[in-house]
Amino acid sequence: MYIRKQRLLTPGPTPLYPPALHAMMASDLHHRTEEFRNVYKSALAGLKQVYGAPGDVLCMAASGSGAMDASVSNLFSAGDKVIVCTAGKFGERWVEIVRAYGLDATVLEAPYGDVVTPDRLEAALKAEPATRGVFVQGSESSTGAQHDVEAMGKLVAATDAIFVVDAITGLGTMPLDIEGWGLDVVIGGSQKAFMIPPGLAFVSLTEKAWNHAKTATLPHYYFDFRKEKKNGDIGESTWTPATSLILALNEALKYVNSIGMANLVANAQLLAHATREASRELGLQLFSSRPGSAVTAIRPPAGMDSGVIVKGYKQKFAAVITGGQGSMKNELFRLAHLGYFDFPDLFSVIAELELILRANGYPVELGRGVAAVQRVYEQASATKTA
Ligand SMILES: *Cc1c(COP(=O)(O)O)cnc(C)c1O
Repeated sequence: MYIRKQRLLTPGPTPLYPPALHAMMASDLHHRTEEFRNVYKSALAGLKQVYGAPGDVLCMAASGSGAMDASVSNLFSAGDKVIVCTAGKFGERWVEIVRAYGLDATVLEAPYGDVVTPDRLEAALKAEPATRGVFVQGSESSTGAQHDVEAMGKLVAATDAIFVVDAITGLGTMPLDIEGWGLDVVIGGSQKAFMIPPGLAFVSLTEKAWNHAKTATLPHYYFDFRKEKKNGDIGESTWTPATSLILALNEALKYVNSIGMANLVANAQLLAHATREASRELGLQLFSSRPGSAVTAIRPPAGMDSGVIVKGYKQKFAAVITGGQGSMKNELFRLAHLGYFDFPDLFSVIAELELILRANGYPVELGRGVAAVQRVYEQASATKTA
């Protein structure tokens, strides 16, 4: 037998930052006290810093989808014309949410693995000048693709519409210039690059988005951006906050801000680059034509079901990775790089992949993929002091 340590290597939930996990044990405190207000204020300030947001970042007790839902119910009215850019399962979630609230959606769809190009958005905005909002995923976690939110944001900025970005796996894995690119609403979730468990959702809003809030008439109660902002200003949340998660968030944000958000992004980008190099060495194809750095979706070798690879990680190494979602189930497996992932994680993930591929009859030379990751590490260290 071998000892097999359990490892969570999915694109959410992601590996936990240990000091954040330990901080959760101090949650025997009341949320309407000076003690907790200080923690909450510090967490909100830390969020604003990692977002690079000119305005406030709101925090809510929900998974990421809660903030997606709230962004529709707080900022729009029934019948509003919106454009949804969808290229995967999370884009489809936007379509479902805006339709559930009765918005009049034009859907720009790209095949799984591709992205909606800015020129398609430009044409759609021209065709409908009354558009009130544009929805997209910065990083489409189901396919590993990354949208060009810079180009898209600049197009939307020239109109009266607001740009609503699901950056739940985009934050910490791609640059997001809220002011410069016109990212009016940027949504985050705690279980992604924030390195803490699921249960918190974040949202930043620009002036333009707050102006939409003033005229929006869709009903909402629990998720109320204006109430949340007012309470946040005095260090409180509207409802009982998820105190244990706020304690964890505060620790994780201190860490991210100490290394710098740009370096967290660079870390994900470098690990994603190394993963692409390794898959090329192993003769594997990427699933996406425009891969991002949160997660790399890889096609299994011809004739192999990707489920075999996911199962291999679990059975041989007690490691949890993810396959494809929905109709992509057997077509890809996903290796994550967002948040608390490092090179040693990747060395082992690729070494394990080589063993799993061989055990399933795909001949790869042992160490070939790992060597590709090692070369990326060496090259990167040569140009850095770290
Ligand atoms: C994880 C994720 C979400 C949110 O999912 P929840 O289960 O509600 O946290 C939304 N969009 C993307 C792109 C994601 O990766």
